[in-house]
Amino acid sequence: MTRHDVQVAVIGFGPCGAVAANLLGQAGITTLAIDKLVDIFPKPRAIALDHEIMRLFDNIGVADKVLPFVAPFTASEHHGAQGQLIRRIDMVPKPYPMGYTPSMVFSQPPVEEVLRAHAASWDGVQIELGTELLELSQDEAGVTLRLRDGAGVERAVTADYVIACDGASSLVRQNLGIALDDLVFDEPWLVVDLLVHGAALSKLPSKSAQYCEPARPTTYLVGPNNHRRWEIMLLPGEDRFAMEAPGRVWQLLSRWLTPEDATLWRANSYRFHALVAHEWRRGRVFLAGDSAHQQPPFIGQGMCQGLRDVSNLIWKLVRVIEGKTDPALLDSYGEERGAHVRELTGRIKTIGHVICERDPEAARLRDERILAEGGGVARTITRQEIVPPLRCGLLGEGAAAGTLFPQPRLLGGVLPDQARGTGWRLVIDGRQIVLPGEIVAKAALLGLNVITVSADPASRDAEIEGVAGAWFDRSGCDAALVRPDHYVFATSVGTADLASQLDRLAAVPH
Ligand SMILES: Cc1cc2nc3c(=O)[nH]c(=O)nc-3n(C[C@H](O)[C@H](O)[C@H](O)COP(=O)(O)OP(=O)(O)OC[C@H]3O[C@@H](n4cnc5c(N)ncnc54)[C@H](O)[C@@H]3O)c2cc1C
Repeated sequence: MTRHDVQVAVIGFGPCGAVAANLLGQAGITTLAIDKLVDIFPKPRAIALDHEIMRLFDNIGVADKVLPFVAPFTASEHHGAQGQLIRRIDMVPKPYPMGYTPSMVFSQPPVEEVLRAHAASWDGVQIELGTELLELSQDEAGVTLRLRDGAGVERAVTADYVIACDGASSLVRQNLGIALDDLVFDEPWLVVDLLVHGAALSKLPSKSAQYCEPARPTTYLVGPNNHRRWEIMLLPGEDRFAMEAPGRVWQLLSRWLTPEDATLWRANSYRFHALVAHEWRRGRVFLAGDSAHQQPPFIGQGMCQGLRDVSNLIWKLVRVIEGKTDPALLDSYGEERGAHVRELTGRIKTIGHVICERDPEAARLRDERILAEGGGVARTITRQEIVPPLRCGLLGEGAAAGTLFPQPRLLGGVLPDQARGTGWRLVIDGRQIVLPGEIVAKAALLGLNVITVSADPASRDAEIEGVAGAWFDRSGCDAALVRPDHYVFATSVGTADLASQLDRLAAVPH
């Protein structure tokens, strides 16, 4: 039982804070979530999300409420300096590995509404909007927060742990003196969102596009319904505020539309940069989301990365708070997420350098190189192959350790996370292996949920699309130990190998 006011305090109630509060509430952890602002930012920032995040939304019970604000992400066609197609970035084809469309576009403000309302529905979650964190201090036993509410009243609140989801200019990060490592990318871009009137939609490309034109690199995104976004690189000497003026924005968009064709939802300039926190944890305080990292939005992964942070952290925190494992487990949070964010940001930067090339000769050579890599034609790469696996931290052995375990649709179309639960799992390829009694006993001692996926329609967990079977075949294994965040701890071939992976798991805090 905590001696503090709450077990966890979440600072900042943007998408990362709201999902954190949901995960904590679902686990029965007493939680205070605060935000200095009362209202959700009414304009979209993030526009893309992926199936890992929709699976997380499903796990907290909001997927059905979010889906009305979501649409499939059209392939992004990359055009070279002469307008020629040089490559496509698309999603993996059906059958979909996670049970959801792999890449999606969404409308951020209503999705945040859904996340906030759902967070408020958990008994142990208290939400205070209009309440600002002024400073925090900690000792070995807990954290003390000084808060100021909307009426200007200050008070102290104590918590066992704090998660700082307080965004890019994080007060918590600054209070703790945690530096951001600069991964060296810094380009000014103008982001324009339009709500396009029905008839004018046909004037626009039906697919998303990157115009890798050295004169003015530009991204075009097909959002949900009539939402369309342009991200337009600003050139040296251009004043960001002057470029945000509606008259200037319509000039930039004149290639596609006129002011009669759409409502200008917003135009804001940003510096697209790549920053990652040098430390992700100081004692009992953890950074997550934009407070820990910011990356250019070229494949729409900023918020997704933040939601991966809270997904990674909270099952560990819950197990530590419940006394089910050693607090050393928490060290794996920053190790895993830090390495993952750095690797993905590196890949995003590489894509960004291709897009942002301003030298015409270098752009011509770039186009030749990319086409040559595709054997002379525009090849398709998937958004899913760009997102790396976990490569360090709480991982055992096996070729697929660190990858995301799929979510195969079972008979009746049900998804196993809903039907069979999440948590630590041992998933067996029922075509290849039958578990002997001693393995079943070991798994029970470790508290594992054992799931035998099979193609046999008579079996309990019969899959209907062959997703798990194909995954086992590709990964060269017949069993997978899967973490509560769906990342694979270890894979094995045969029962002796499985027994040793179970021993390995038993030997580490988990
Ligand atoms: C142009 C653009 C395009 C993008 N596109 C995508 C995309 O397609 N896909 C994607 O995944 N991501 C995208 N992103 C990134 C994404 O928008 C962010 O990563 C995400 O919104 C960050 O969420 P967060 O919860 O970490 O922080 P925020 O949403 O910034 O929330 C932080 C919250 O903390 C509160 N706060 C701050 N300080 C305090 C304090 N002292 N006390 C109390 N409350 C405080 C703030 O009021 C705020 O509500 C894009 C970003 C931009 C700018």
